[in-house]
Formats: sequence, C-alpha cells, structure tokens
Amino acid sequence: MLNMNGISKVYQTEMVQTHALQDFNLQVNEGEFIAVTGPSGSGKTTFLNIAGVLEPFTQGEYLLDGVDIGKLNDNQRADIRNQKIGYIFQGFNLIPDLNLYENVEVPLRYRGIKAPERKRRIEESLEQVGLASRAKHLPQQLSGGQQQRVAIARALAGKPRFLLADEPTGNLDSLMARQVMELLEQINRDGATIVMVTHDSELARRAPRNIQVVDGQIADFSLYQGNPAAVV
Ligand code: ADP
Ligand code: ADP
Repeated sequence: MLNMNGISKVYQTEMVQTHALQDFNLQVNEGEFIAVTGPSGSGKTTFLNIAGVLEPFTQGEYLLDGVDIGKLNDNQRADIRNQKIGYIFQGFNLIPDLNLYENVEVPLRYRGIKAPERKRRIEESLEQVGLASRAKHLPQQLSGGQQQRVAIARALAGKPRFLLADEPTGNLDSLMARQVMELLEQINRDGATIVMVTHDSELARRAPRNIQVVDGQIADFSLYQGNPAAVV
C-alpha cells in the first residue's frame, strides 16, 4: 500500500520557487490500477517520481508498505526501489546499442541477480510481452509499440509490486497505445499495482480508478462518491 499524507515538493532555482506539489494526499491499495490525468505542469511527474522513490519531497509523510520513506538514507531508498518498483517512461529509455535481451538484463545485473536467474527472468518477461523471438534485435529494428513492450519487459523482470508509468503511450499511435494498455491490464490482473500518468482520456477511462492532479493537489472524485454535496 502506498500512502501519501500532506506531501509538498518545492523546486528552488536561483530566481523562482515552484510548489510542484502542495498538501498532496493519496492512498493506493494493493492491486489497484489508477490513471492520473491533469493539466501540463500540474505535478503529475513529480508525484510519480516521489511515489517511485526517485526524488525526495520537501514536507509530509510517505509510507510505502508501511515503510516511512522520508526517514531512509540513499542506500535504503535504492533498496526499496529495487525490491518493489518498476518504471516505464514515455521515451522507452532503451540503450540503442544493446539488443533486447541485454536491455532487459541491465537492471538485473545492477541488482546483483545471478546469471541463471537473470536468464530465466529475461526470457519469461520477453515472452510475456510477445517479443521472445526478437531477443537479439536492436531497439531501432522495432516499432515504437514494440520498443515500449521491451521497456515493460525490463520493468517486469524486476518483479515489481508497484509499476509506475509516465505517459507510457505518449509516443504511440492509438492502436499501439491500446496494445500497451492491454498489456498493463494483464500485468495488473497478475497482481501488480499500477499507477499510470496519461494525457489520453480514453485510456484513462479504461482504468478502474481515475484521479486528477490540479495545481499540485489531488482532485480524487472517488472520494466524493455518495456525497455529491461535497463536489462544488
Ligand atoms: P506535470 O507532470 O503535471 O506536467 P511536473 O511534475 O513535471 O508536472 O511539474 C510540476 C511543476 O514543477 C511545474 O511547474 C514544473 O515546471 C516544475 N518542475 C518540475 N521539475 C522541476 C525541476 N527539476 N526544477 C524546477 N522546477 C521543476
Ligand atoms: P506493431 O506490431 O508494434 O504494431 P508495426 O506494425 O509498426 O509494429 O511493425 C510491423 C513490423 O515491422 C514489426 O514486426 C516490426 O518488427 C517491423 N518494423 C517496424 N519498424 C521497423 C524498423 N524501423 N526496422 C525494422 N523492422 C521494423
């Protein structure tokens, strides 16, 4: 379970202070699939980076499976990331001169997973995204949708409990976007909790829960169910 209470994030540059998140409150339960939408600059990426323990926050409390993230040092933060979290980015972030197999392998090596286990996980995750037959291909030999599927395989190989996706379909046409969405739905059915930031309102509506970020705060309409008077 992911629990943010009163999270604020201030970016301080020479001239300006930006409140990217302000008193941000959210609870994500085990097994949920949440789509996050909101205007550009509203704080969606900042939220996702904090949720993924990639970025520190300025104020508030963030509990991930009961662990108080604000109290951890850098090594402990890295451990939590490796144990629990997978990321998918809009730009895929594949390494161009490594083949698909090697791309999926990178984070597993980094985490000290032994060769036979690495091989098993890489083959299994490439199989799951339907690209096992292309293990020796370079990213540039694939379509955008296929490259995103490799990025998903790379995240899956880490066996993450939480899969965080920032505009995973942002560079894809609508057919490929739907295929990637179907894959995420399958991964969610297999047990991973998914938080996906997207501009695509059609894809967002497919997710069981939608939240909106506006001006660094959450507008979680599900909170208001049964109490329409609360919606102004
Ligand atoms: P979104 O993902 O909704 O477009 P972001 O989380 O990227 O929003 O950004 C929220 C606000 O924080 C924006 O005003 C943005 O300009 C600012 N911001 C984001 N990252 C940085 C940074 N590294 N330094 C300074 N300001 C930043
Ligand atoms: P998808 O199946 O993800 O929708 P496309 O329809 O774009 O992919 O691509 C059809 C086929 O062409 C795929 O099998 C893909 O591997 C191949 N392909 C796409 N782009 C390239 C490329 N730049 N170089 C080599 N093969 C490619």
